[in-house]
Amino acid sequence: MSSRSWIDNGQSNPDEAPYYLAVGNEVEIFEAAFHQKLPLLLKGPTGCGKTRFVEHMAWRLMQGSPTTDSNLITISCHEDLSASDLVGRFLLNHDSTYWQDGPLTRAVRDGAICYLDEVVEARKDTTVLIHSLTDHRRTLPIDKTGELVEAADGFLLVISYNPGYQSILKDLKTSTRQRFVSLEFDYPSEPHEAEIIRTESQGSPGEAEKLARLGKKVRNLKQYGFSEGVSTRLLIYASTLMRDGIEPALAVESAITCAVSDDDEVQAAIRDIANLFWS
Ligand code: ADP
Repeated sequence: MSSRSWIDNGQSNPDEAPYYLAVGNEVEIFEAAFHQKLPLLLKGPTGCGKTRFVEHMAWRLMQGSPTTDSNLITISCHEDLSASDLVGRFLLNHDSTYWQDGPLTRAVRDGAICYLDEVVEARKDTTVLIHSLTDHRRTLPIDKTGELVEAADGFLLVISYNPGYQSILKDLKTSTRQRFVSLEFDYPSEPHEAEIIRTESQGSPGEAEKLARLGKKVRNLKQYGFSEGVSTRLLIYASTLMRDGIEPALAVESAITCAVSDDDEVQAAIRDIANLFWS
């Protein structure tokens, strides 16, 4: 796997803030944590805006800084991600070897925000690694080179995890969790979500309102053992398909009903709800 496939700075156009609609006091808390060098944990279901929030905050905090280099390194964690993937490794060059920093080391040296998305998915050796970065030491020991890297100003560790989705085996350990200031995320309120759907898809305000109402109802389908509900991302996809001329019922079927579950009963229940709005 190439390194670019799991690192993304999230800032395609550095002149424009990534759109983020604040739903509480998360912006103030992030700014204070950044200035006080306190690591952050973002908790919440998938597709509810955590990544977008970090991209937005990274952009805001970079304003006024003399550098135009990206100040955000995002790493999507997965079960094969090891400490070496984060810290770096020796590579072979003809008959010699040289050290190449991994994304975490680059963020620590350069003073960037390092966002470890779905951190509990990564191998266990990665959590130990981040401990010395989350307290007063703000250092990263690199065992293989014997170096102790001190975090530059501007370095901030942000991790996310989805409490509803993890198995007990993959829960965040208390000793790790208690090193972070926590921000709880959830799906936005109905009016907020309608605004997000409309803005992100550039679709019709009327359809965005209906999709936000559908989202709320689908998330209440708890009796089917369907705990996650539908993400804001999928509601945006449905609106985007509609904007491109796909008939609403079909857009909802493809972007929502079939996307959220393979269970016939759940799909039938979502179709019943969709029929209330688009019959
Ligand atoms: P997460 O990281 O929580 O899985 P994302 O940040 O990728 O979710 O959010 C999914 C999409 O939902 C984003 O790409 C964005 O389009 C939209 N979104 C969700 N919440 C917001 C918000 N508060 N403001 C703007 N866009 C949002």
